[in-house]
Amino acid sequence: MRFVTYATADGDRTGVLNGDLIHALPEGTSLIELLGPTLRQAGRRALTEPADVVALADVTLQAPLPRPPSLRDCLCFLDHLRACRKAVGESETLERTWYQIPAFYFANPATVVGPYDEVPLSPGSAWFDFELEIGAVIGTAGRDLTPEQAEDGIAGYTLFCDWSARDLQSLESQLRIGQAKGKDGATTLGPWLVTPDELPFGPDGRPALQVRAEVNGELVGASRTDAMDWSFGEVISYASRGVELQPGDVFGSGTVPGCCLLEHLDIGDLAAFRGWLKDGDVVSLRAEGLGEVRQTVRAVAPPHPLAARPDPTAPPRRARVNPAASALPYTKGLHRVGEGVWAWLLPDGGYGWSNAGLIAGDGASLLVDTLYDLPLTAEMLSGIRPVTDQHPLSHAVLTHANGDHTHGGQLLPGSACVIAAEGTAHEMRTEMAPELTTALQVMDLGPTLTPYLRDRFGRFDFGGIRLRAPDRTFDRRLTVDVGGREVCLLNLGPAHTEADTVVHVPDAGVLFAGDLLFIGCTPIVWSGPLANWIAACDAMLGLGASTVVPGHGPVTDADGIRAVRDYFGHIVEQADAAYAKGLDFQEAAFGVDLAQYASWLDAERIVVNIYRRYREIHADQAVLDRFALFGLMAEWDRRRQSPAPRKAARL
Ligand SMILES: [Zn+2]
Repeated sequence: MRFVTYATADGDRTGVLNGDLIHALPEGTSLIELLGPTLRQAGRRALTEPADVVALADVTLQAPLPRPPSLRDCLCFLDHLRACRKAVGESETLERTWYQIPAFYFANPATVVGPYDEVPLSPGSAWFDFELEIGAVIGTAGRDLTPEQAEDGIAGYTLFCDWSARDLQSLESQLRIGQAKGKDGATTLGPWLVTPDELPFGPDGRPALQVRAEVNGELVGASRTDAMDWSFGEVISYASRGVELQPGDVFGSGTVPGCCLLEHLDIGDLAAFRGWLKDGDVVSLRAEGLGEVRQTVRAVAPPHPLAARPDPTAPPRRARVNPAASALPYTKGLHRVGEGVWAWLLPDGGYGWSNAGLIAGDGASLLVDTLYDLPLTAEMLSGIRPVTDQHPLSHAVLTHANGDHTHGGQLLPGSACVIAAEGTAHEMRTEMAPELTTALQVMDLGPTLTPYLRDRFGRFDFGGIRLRAPDRTFDRRLTVDVGGREVCLLNLGPAHTEADTVVHVPDAGVLFAGDLLFIGCTPIVWSGPLANWIAACDAMLGLGASTVVPGHGPVTDADGIRAVRDYFGHIVEQADAAYAKGLDFQEAAFGVDLAQYASWLDAERIVVNIYRRYREIHADQAVLDRFALFGLMAEWDRRRQSPAPRKAARL
């Protein structure tokens, strides 16, 4: 028998399904009161003498138990855990305890939602996920049950979705105190409660159901439920030790292997991942005999921030001051840099603190780059309104593919034409999804890299970002008419990235250099070759602009371009000399003499720059992924900040 709870104008009503019809039980009867030995008798009576009959299609189904007395989510499929660990680069070998006792945590009965209800994203989460599970509902009260008694006490089964905020879960798991905001946002039960006699079971008593999970009609996982390592009887028996279970208590099976997004992540190949759930995504979960739930995910307001506590064991935080001199004050906000040309500056120029630009023509304007997250971009777009109200944004140029220049694209007016070099468009298509950047804020990556990344990336909000692809691309150069004004785009890459565009406004003598220029902070070579970056500096000098806005750091002029060119000259010299001495790249990077460039912020990027140079000299140099390079930069930074203590003299 299949029991449902549905909404009416007078409150929730309980019924039994009969084909496409619902045979209602008398008003005021809740499903939870019926659970127990008399459940089927009540169902039979409703089928023969219904208090009311309504079409299933005409009602809104609620969760069969809209407020269960308790909700436990278990981990019955160990393969789910193995796959999750593999996804984030951890060992799939489980600790022995996983084989000794079943695992469960208490979820939140107050956030149970129905089978077709919208699901709010967990506030502050950029990694929202679903988990297809089977829920078992307790029919008879009892404690200290044997697995057989526990199995016999199950009133029925329902689909169960454990909505999960993976980033919050990753952060909270480091506290080793259990599940909290990563798991308590929503749990779906429905569409109906099915009595065990209606379902197929394997010879060992486990439900044997085919299940399938889809997002927006695309298959995510399809699997079977009979491979449970721990049966419902066993986990319920375990939970009942010394505890009275109540009719209506719900037990989730844990994710059926493959039926969530996390298992399909590969931290070594983030670009292949489909991305986490976003506003508007439709998740449908199906199980043989249990029906289908189909829900739309909805964005929510950001959470109220909490200030971090001071860490008494942390080394004193260094003041980060950009050391470059500048004729224009280096303060956050809009600065006029020429006739009808402005820079939007964002000190201090470190990771993600990037500059944008605005060029106004007659009744039109062009934006150079967006910012790293949606709040920063929204703030910038509102800050430039005194100009764009008069000269609406008609164009936006993305100088290169890095997120601190592209993540805000979705906030641009739809009518603005977004332009980028073809190499940039390609890199945007193939790089990892923007919200995966949250990994830098929440993952435990060891004692050196974790604090380094939290320090550098901890203040951004990577939620809700959908990359806006360029509307128009070009190869090497493009001239754009912005309200009668000529603006020249030149792709001088590959250097910092696969393609690096500079934006030249000849009539104002202003050049926006994108990340071909870091001023007072250290450039980083993600693509190279270094010779190309040096050539790009010469090409920029050749444009003769009197005012130069870098991608990071204060506004500069030709001297700023020369400083970056000379930095690379110095790096090539240092790297080549180290190579000639037979040093490996790490020895070269850790022993480098940075000379006058040591005062530039983020000096540790020397690691990546020397690595690139070594790869140019010698192509057999081992390939390192970004996490490995960040690990070495963190180590370089740690050593530079706190030189290794001298070994104590032996006593
Ligand atoms: Zn940048």
